[in-house]
Amino acid sequence: MSKLLAVGTVAFDAIETPFGKTDKILGGSGTYVGLAASQFGVETGVVSVVGADFLDSDIKMMNAKGINTDGIEIDPNGKTFFWSGKYHNDMNSRDTLITELNVLEHFQPVVPEKFKDAAIVMLGNLHPLTQASVLDQMTEKPKLVVLDTMNFWMDIALDDLHTVLKRVDVITINDEEARQLSGEYSLVNAAKKIHKMGPKYVVIKKGEHGALLFNEDKMFFAPALPLAEVFDPTGAGDTFAGGFCGYLAKTKDISFDNMKNAIIYGSNLASFCVEKFGTQRMEKLTANEVKERLNAFKQLTQFDIEIS
Ligand code: AMP
Repeated sequence: MSKLLAVGTVAFDAIETPFGKTDKILGGSGTYVGLAASQFGVETGVVSVVGADFLDSDIKMMNAKGINTDGIEIDPNGKTFFWSGKYHNDMNSRDTLITELNVLEHFQPVVPEKFKDAAIVMLGNLHPLTQASVLDQMTEKPKLVVLDTMNFWMDIALDDLHTVLKRVDVITINDEEARQLSGEYSLVNAAKKIHKMGPKYVVIKKGEHGALLFNEDKMFFAPALPLAEVFDPTGAGDTFAGGFCGYLAKTKDISFDNMKNAIIYGSNLASFCVEKFGTQRMEKLTANEVKERLNAFKQLTQFDIEIS
């Protein structure tokens, strides 16, 4: 089992979907990554910043899940990062209504001593310079650096994103963002271009249509589990990434073949995340539920065909 270090937002979200609306609830890329990784029992540290308005009970909840929060700074003079989004009827696309960076604006991440030698580093959705600063603090070169980003950072910090991408092994990105980053409509061509920017592995998330993994000429596809009820897709991408990294940290095997399994584990966890608003489902998820659904996943994707 290896250590996992994740940097990302720990946030308040206000979400609107066709099924309802929430006021400020717990969210953030770092929160979702941490909760997903906690399913694997790996030592996970989250680096982030929150304001004085953040709830101690949320920190306690993360600690109870085994997430180390020593790297979450509490800025007594600031407000927690706030994001608000509204989903369209198909639940696959959303509009960002509000992004208030607040304490994130001047955030200087500090990696706790204990996590400076983490084997896997997950650079969750954040300003690329903040992501780079985490890598600068590692005392040992991580075995695997995984980066997630979004259009927001491509729009305002593209050059910095290109610089950090040179230090990254795996990028997880959604289809729309892969197209924006590469300027290519075909995801195969987009992955080829993104490879050239640095990451040897490109994971393209396609929401309810699954995820693709590219590595040089190799390609793998995992579907998303078709669900009867999707309440809120927020955090599904980060949960996927947390599951992907958590599995790799647990198994200590970063081969392409094992990454296929990591993608299945990530997709499996993301399928839970969307069943309730915010982090609710991930907070209550049990190991048995995860196992059961993995079996359903296996049956969904397994077939025997004779090719003559
Ligand atoms: P996902 O649905 O996986 O893309 O992640 C949603 C989470 O990302 C929400 O909980 C937000 O708090 C967080 N988020 C939204 N915008 C940003 C941003 N620009 N940078 C970092 N995190 C963000």
